[in-house]
Amino acid sequence: MNERALEIQKQIVLAVEHLKADDVVGMPTETVYGLAGRIDSEVAIKKIFSTKERPFFDPLIVHVNSIEQAKSCASEWSEVSQALAQAFWPGPLTLVLPKADKISDLITSGLTTVGLRWPNHPIAQEMIERVGVPLAAPSANKFGRTSPTKAQHVKDEFSNEVLVVDGDACSIGIESTVLHIKTMALKKYQLSILRQGAILKSQIDLVVSKLNIDYSWIESIDKKESPGHMKHHYMPSIPFVVCRNSQMKLSELVVRLNQKLQELPDEVEGVKIIKPKAEIKKIEFLRLSKDPTQAARELYAQLRAASLRNPDALCFIQGPDLHQEMWQSLFDRLYKAASLIID
Ligand code: AMP
Ligand code: MG
Repeated sequence: MNERALEIQKQIVLAVEHLKADDVVGMPTETVYGLAGRIDSEVAIKKIFSTKERPFFDPLIVHVNSIEQAKSCASEWSEVSQALAQAFWPGPLTLVLPKADKISDLITSGLTTVGLRWPNHPIAQEMIERVGVPLAAPSANKFGRTSPTKAQHVKDEFSNEVLVVDGDACSIGIESTVLHIKTMALKKYQLSILRQGAILKSQIDLVVSKLNIDYSWIESIDKKESPGHMKHHYMPSIPFVVCRNSQMKLSELVVRLNQKLQELPDEVEGVKIIKPKAEIKKIEFLRLSKDPTQAARELYAQLRAASLRNPDALCFIQGPDLHQEMWQSLFDRLYKAASLIID
């Protein structure tokens, strides 16, 4: 074993000791870094919420290390769940299913369903395996803020007070696709995407369409079934603006920004909006890769790096040519991260 591998093994052993002692730790996954705690420890689950300053109405995703373990967390495992788990696990797809009794109301925010995912990162898998029970792990950032995709992000976010296992930069870079599977009758299902991610609706549909079942997609989602989806989320610590008019002159953009940003509320749905302290003069532009997979991988690190350089505002100019389905998942993050969207 080389020196780096040895160091990571040491970090894993220490993290597992913390988890066994009801503590929370930073855990790398392929989507974003999670703040993990064992699902059978009320102390650990409460600590996840308090460390993140997350409201209790926002449920946690439970991370498992096998289909068998996922089944033990759900009271129902359908042919749809089986087919999707086989197709996409381990990977960035969370299945929302009726919960087993052992999953506490604290984890599900009182819902009768639980979000389950088998992450595709060897360190996350080893941690779950060694602890021996699934780990609840929301993104390791303060509520409403930019998700972490590197170990250093987690250390910065919690002022070095949380132990983090360093699993390098996340390969996907945005959170998992969250899919709600509702059984309506024998061989009859309703599916809805509660959060877009790297696994696309078209990919899910391709798998489900091959099953001998009757299913439909529900587009309008009942807010009660999908809490935690705020208008603002993923927000960096500087004003971030999405401009959907790629023809707008820079001078006009600056005027519009200054007018509009001052009018913003301080808070929307519990998430604090980032407002400029003084007039905006220095704008930095977010430049994303033309490849949406690469753009997703870099997005949060770019938002964080720009915040550290402290411009008056960060701006993303949305070009007209970004149509691939994966861009929808990115725009979901970009629009929610924005203090302001201008056309
Ligand atoms: P995070 O852990 O920060 O990636 O956020 C997890 C998100 O998954 C929550 O904000 C919810 O939107 C969603 N989620 C988790 N569990 C459930 C559930 N039981 N029902 C509906 N949505 C869920
Ligand atoms: Mg999150």
